[in-house]
Amino acid sequence: MEYAAAKSSICRQCGRYFSPFAPKPGLKLRVREEAPAAPASSSILGKFEDFWKRQRSSVIECFECKRKQQVCGTATSTICPACSAHIDLRDYKVTSGFSRTIRTRGDVHLTGKGDLGSSSVICRSALIEGRLRGNLHCDDTATINFAGKIPGRISARRVIVERKADIHCFRRLKAENIEIKGRMSGEIIAQTVTIQKKGALEGDVTARAITVEKGGMFSGQLVIGRADLMQGELLQEQKPDVERVPESDFSPVAQRPLPAT
Ligand SMILES: [Zn+2]
Ligand SMILES: [Zn+2]
Repeated sequence: MEYAAAKSSICRQCGRYFSPFAPKPGLKLRVREEAPAAPASSSILGKFEDFWKRQRSSVIECFECKRKQQVCGTATSTICPACSAHIDLRDYKVTSGFSRTIRTRGDVHLTGKGDLGSSSVICRSALIEGRLRGNLHCDDTATINFAGKIPGRISARRVIVERKADIHCFRRLKAENIEIKGRMSGEIIAQTVTIQKKGALEGDVTARAITVEKGGMFSGQLVIGRADLMQGELLQEQKPDVERVPESDFSPVAQRPLPAT
């Protein structure tokens, strides 16, 4: 790749030079010494984080043509060098009603008072503490810390159902790895499922492996699925199940015989 050879690159967004490589550990110490004194400790931390954000570069993929490119941490958007598509890089913090579609390589934080009505949210990682009405896909991790119904489809590389979460998913949840620390009802399709101590899952699971730790609870059917099939499922969402699930992803919510929470 062209970036591998380069010692530094220019950000398409702000024109700043940045190293295409991750900062070395030794750099951190020097940075702290150089940081100017600030009155409040929170602002020191803020400046420190800003600094790191500026230094950090990441490789992102075009939503349209999948071409990868490197962007610096402060960029809020970029243009795909291959197909010229606009790529949103912003982080979203949703603290009240919000219903526009989100498609970003940044993160989404839906706070406790937030109400995310968007039919589709695509992001890197998401922290869900409020009401989520539509579908959510995270390239990385979806952390759910919410109590209530989740009517939309959730898919992510990794899903964490936090300790205080108590969720009732109407649609199948898809992920490579799912960790359940709180309570969840709904169907899961995954590579690995871990139900931790005090975690509880009620619903059917199709997975390559499931671990129920001591003190964890699982009630539902378990189908040990083939890993390659799982992977295909994750990549091609609309592909109907070969194995056993008769309904498609678009079956009405009412038809799902899910137990009440
Ligand atoms: Zn930049
Ligand atoms: Zn593109």
